Amino acid sequence: MSTPTLPAWLNPDPWLQVAATASERDVAAAIACDSPDARELAVLLSPAAAPYLEPMAQRAQALTRRHFGNTIALYVPLYLSNFCSGGCVYCGFAADRRIPRRALTSAEIESELAALACMGFEEILLLTGERTPHADLDYVLAAVRRAAACFHQVTIETFPMEVAEYRALAAAGCTGVTIYQETYAPEPYDRLHRWGPKKDFRARLDAPARALQGGMRSVGLGALLGLHDPVLDAVCLFLHARHLLREYWRSGVSISFPRLRPQAGGFTAPCPVDDAWLARLICAFRLCLPDVPLLLSTRESPAFRDGMAGVGISQMSIGSRTTVGGYRDEDDHAVGQFAVSDDRTIDAFCTMLRAKQLEPVFKHWDAAYREDPRDLDTPRPAVAVAAL
Ligand code: SF4
Repeated sequence: MSTPTLPAWLNPDPWLQVAATASERDVAAAIACDSPDARELAVLLSPAAAPYLEPMAQRAQALTRRHFGNTIALYVPLYLSNFCSGGCVYCGFAADRRIPRRALTSAEIESELAALACMGFEEILLLTGERTPHADLDYVLAAVRRAAACFHQVTIETFPMEVAEYRALAAAGCTGVTIYQETYAPEPYDRLHRWGPKKDFRARLDAPARALQGGMRSVGLGALLGLHDPVLDAVCLFLHARHLLREYWRSGVSISFPRLRPQAGGFTAPCPVDDAWLARLICAFRLCLPDVPLLLSTRESPAFRDGMAGVGISQMSIGSRTTVGGYRDEDDHAVGQFAVSDDRTIDAFCTMLRAKQLEPVFKHWDAAYREDPRDLDTPRPAVAVAAL
């Protein structure tokens, strides 16, 4: 198969040139810019911006508070299955890993959902590997229906689907889809994805658009930092988000910043990203996409998460397990997709947030709001002003 070329809207070359040549004067202008775009993002990721983390963080914090208040929205992942036909070299669930495989039964899904609801979560992310007979569309649909009965927001991070499949999931109560491109550079992408459906770069790249065409309220994007040149991946991630926000302006986009973690298989990051660079990346995205939710998971250390909460980051997971199930009955021998770094309890994490004057928020909207038709042209009932 020939290496795919990037679509015109995803061409990073002009911005990589900007990142390579930016001056400290350009950095000061980018931090102060009122309508930053790809040029400013590239400048803020340049070597010249390295000494400017503090002013970037101050502006990122101010913008985060302006758009999200003093809050951090919390969510929890639930791995439904670790069966996978894929051969992603960086993943503990790849088909050639010798690990116990299982998919939660319907009764187990019910019991895991009940355990998570009891912990107070109202937003849940359901995960599987690639499509297999153990975890296909019908399996995900059934899990979404169950989750939608007890959670306000149900999102999925499963296998890329067709528009009609996303439409069925949206009708079942799924509100969002997360699909990381991992790396936006086609050649390393081809090497890192040894076999399986994920090897198709373009099919994966277009999956978030298909999800929005299918009626999802939002999509989550990300690149797995450490796999390739982080400046290229960050610029393309920004261009991808900007493209979707322009094309599907009624929908939402969120962005995650996963860093490669130890996993079964022992793959190590060819292009590691250190804490200072990741912090600058998050601040740069906040400056250039001020009202887009930015997420940080328990892949990161408690110290790093504490530092970034409210400083760019507006949404975080906590209490996460990357094994299949495990919230109701912990299995000490289960192998996760990757190692979790922040294993604090929900209480300990919320205490930390409150100490920073940040309020943990367990939901985004009421169920009634979800029934609001997506078509803004639909006539609404008149509001009885006198009754207000
Ligand atoms: S990243 Fe996803 S598709 Fe790739 S091996 Fe892991 S679970 Fe399978």
